[in-house]
Order: sequence, then structure tokens, then C-alpha cells
Amino acid sequence: MNIIDELYHPDSDRDTEEYRDHLATVDKKGKRVWMYPKKPSGWFYKARTWLSFVLLGLLFGMPFIRVNGEPLMLFDVLERKFIIFSIVFTPQDLHLFALAMVTLMLFVVLFTVVFGRLFCGWICPQTIFMEMVFRKIEYWIDGDAGQQRKLAAAPWTGQKIFKRLSKYAIFYAISLIIANTFLMYVIGSDKVLKIATDPIGLHLGGFMALLAFSGVFFFVFSYMREQVCIAICPYGRLQGVLLVPDSIVVHYDYVRGEPRGKISKQSTVELPTAKGDCVDCKLCVHVCPTGIDIRNGTQLECVNCTACMDACDGVMEKVNRPKGLIRYDSETGIKADAKGAGSRKIFTTRVWAYTGVLVALIALQAFLFATRSEVETVLLRTPGQLFQKVEGGYLSNLYNYEVINKTGQDIPSIEFKLVGAPGGRIKLVGDASTIVPKQGMVKGVMFIEMPEKELESRKTKLKIEVWSNGKLVDEAKTNFLGPVK
Ligand code: SF4
Ligand code: SF4
Repeated sequence: MNIIDELYHPDSDRDTEEYRDHLATVDKKGKRVWMYPKKPSGWFYKARTWLSFVLLGLLFGMPFIRVNGEPLMLFDVLERKFIIFSIVFTPQDLHLFALAMVTLMLFVVLFTVVFGRLFCGWICPQTIFMEMVFRKIEYWIDGDAGQQRKLAAAPWTGQKIFKRLSKYAIFYAISLIIANTFLMYVIGSDKVLKIATDPIGLHLGGFMALLAFSGVFFFVFSYMREQVCIAICPYGRLQGVLLVPDSIVVHYDYVRGEPRGKISKQSTVELPTAKGDCVDCKLCVHVCPTGIDIRNGTQLECVNCTACMDACDGVMEKVNRPKGLIRYDSETGIKADAKGAGSRKIFTTRVWAYTGVLVALIALQAFLFATRSEVETVLLRTPGQLFQKVEGGYLSNLYNYEVINKTGQDIPSIEFKLVGAPGGRIKLVGDASTIVPKQGMVKGVMFIEMPEKELESRKTKLKIEVWSNGKLVDEAKTNFLGPVK
């Protein structure tokens, strides 16, 4: 029986799958087991640290970047105003937003099928803040895993109280900064700075929101921690249906590693040994922030943080074995290695199909973005109104119009011109405003009058151009109602 058959054989005592019956972070009585992961070190941890500096810099810096007076990103759900890369999206652009969401969802699915939870380990804000900010502070104040355990079990001495108070004070300060930044993405940096600097009474609602958000972040990073990834995050829950045997995930090479076991000093230089390369040191388990043993196979709790890869590479170096016993690989790849043949098939039919749909959606999205006008005119005949006869042989229809300005500048001197309608004329009703404020709109009512003799049917199609200071900014189409011919 080869190693694969042995591992998956129903009578195999190696893969009992017993680990799937319970969470590593919950004990038999259902109480939470607090995680004290050992501080990771190694190439992947360093690379993730550098990437996290870049991403954190972007996250905290972006609300202050302005292009043409507009923030780079804004998701103001209260005022229904969205700015992405300084392009303003109004409720009229809902179709673009909906399509972008569908594209994003599909991208997530495709990406996960191919690269597993790469996003979780390297990009996800929860992992970055937890492992690269809060956990580092914890290591700095409380020490490594062993010292943290000791401190937790120790009585409440002056030193313990001081450490706890300083740690949670720093945690709260960072949570407050995150809450401020989060709010800047929702209401803009100017408004948040006002809330922070003006007397509290002037912005009580905003102040309460800041307190609530900072409280949530503090709770998440000081208490919930890995439970967010294990039990709350919907993306994590979806892994079971997204991952396939060809997905590249953090994988233990059981072919190389088994049978695991302690080795004598001598066997570290005498290769090969009767045992596999895993020396059963359990370092990969001790560094895992979700407390799992990756040697059991791919598990939903694994956030692909690479800590076990670094830990195992360090061990392999010490025992003179090749690195990569735990590495980025697929189940197919590991099985192919076991058989000594075969290839790692990343681009399966399913991946090509996903890619095709994704490319089509991105192309459609790009086309809609490219052809999106910055001014949008809506011109509708006033409901319940037919035509009226006016003097000079003219017929008149009543219309409601809206001109929406999605740009960051006011549009002055708006004018409407009827095109391709000989003898037709437009009459605005009342004191119509001719300035459309930036990211705002003007509404109004107008009559369109047409010579009766020019109408060939009951419904005549009309085109109206919108001009500002001699520049065509938009055009709209509508129908003109006349008598039956
Ligand atoms: S760190 Fe490597 S050698 Fe040690 S138990 Fe884990 S897989 Fe085995
Ligand atoms: S198994 Fe490895 S990659 Fe997965 S969460 Fe644990 S340490 Fe991170």
C-alpha cells in the first residue's frame, strides 16, 4: 500500500479525520482555548511584514490624498456618494456599481479556486492588523508564547497589572486610529478631523460613531482574534465549496514527511532514513495562530499565514533536509510527486471557464466606464399631460428635466438646444437655475413647442443637446406627442 492509499484507507489510523470533529480553539467542555502562537520568523514572515507596511501606509494615507479636490476613495452610504480613484459615482451609476460587485465576486471565486486563501494570509486587513500590528505589540509587551502563558497564569501583581493596562491602552489607541480611518472612508477626512477637533457637542452623532467603531475594533483585536477567521468571516466559510484538489494552498507534503518521528542526531546527516522528513517537533502547530496541525491536511481554519512554512523550513535546515516540507502546493501536486510523474495542473477547464467569464465582465465594465458621461440629463414628459395647441400653429408638450453633475466643478450657463427639429423651440418655466453645482443637480420644467405641420406621426422622436459655455456636455432623447395622423 503506498503512502496515499494508506493515508486515505478507511482503516488507516493516520488520517482518522478526528480533528474535523472539533475546533482547536474550543475544549471538550465547549470553553474557548486561548491561543498563544509562538512568534514566527523566516523569509515569508519578513516578506509579509514588508507588504503589510505598504498596505497599512496605503490604508491610512489614502483618505488624505486628493485628486482635483476629490478624495481618492469615498464610500458615503449616508449621502449615496461613492468615489473610486477620484471618479464620482452617483445613484445613477448603480448599474456600474452592481456590475463591479459581480465582477469582484467572480474574481474572488476564480482566485480562490487557483490560489486558495492567499488573500487571507497576505492582504486581508484582519490578518494584517492581528498578526502584524496587535500581535507584534503583544510579543513586545508580554514576550513570546511561553512568557504569555506564564503571565496569564500568574497572580495579579503590580507588574502584571502594568503590562495588561499598557497593552490594552495601546490596543485601544490603535483601535481609535483604525476607527477614525474607517470613518474617513465613509464621510471623508475633513468631516472626521472636524469631529476630532471641534467641541464634542457639535458632532455628538459622529463622536458616538467613533466610540462605537473603536469599541468594535478593540473587541475584535483584543478578544475575538482568530475567531473572526474561523467562525465569522463568510469568505472563510466558503472555502469548503471553492477549494479543489488543484488549488494551491499551504500544504504539508505528507509523502515526504511520513512516517513522522523523532530522529537521532546521527540520522540528520545520514540520508535517507527509514522515517519521513517530519521530525514531529510540532513547531508548525506552535506557531499557528488558529491552533491547527497542518499535517492533518487542508482545514477551514487555515488562513494561509505561512507561519508554519517558515517554522518548518527552519527545522529542515537544522536537520539537513530540503526546505519546503510545508509549502505552497496543491493536493494534485503532492500526489504527482508521490507517483514520481504527472504535472501540477493549475489551469483546469473550470479555471479557463471562470477566466473567460471574468475577462468578458471586465471588458464590459471597462466599456461602461469609458463611455460613462460626467453629466447626465434625464428628460421625461410630465405624466398625465397631453399636447396643447398654442398660437402660431404650434403644439406644446410639458417636460420635467434633471441635469446631474458628477464632476468636482460647477457647470455654469446650462443651455438646452433642440436638434434636427425644424421650427421647434424650448421654453423653460419659471426662474430656472442655469448652474449645476458640483456633484449636485438642477431640476426644472420646460415646454417644447413644435410646428404642427412638421409632425409626421403621433409620436415624434426629439434630441436635445445640453451646452455649457459653448461646450456640448450631454444630450438627451425624448418623444413629442401630437394628434393622430
Ligand atoms: S515543523 Fe515540520 S518537522 Fe516539525 S512537526 Fe511540523 S511538519 Fe514536522
Ligand atoms: S496552518 Fe500554517 S498557514 Fe495555516 S493558519 Fe496555521 S500557521 Fe498559518
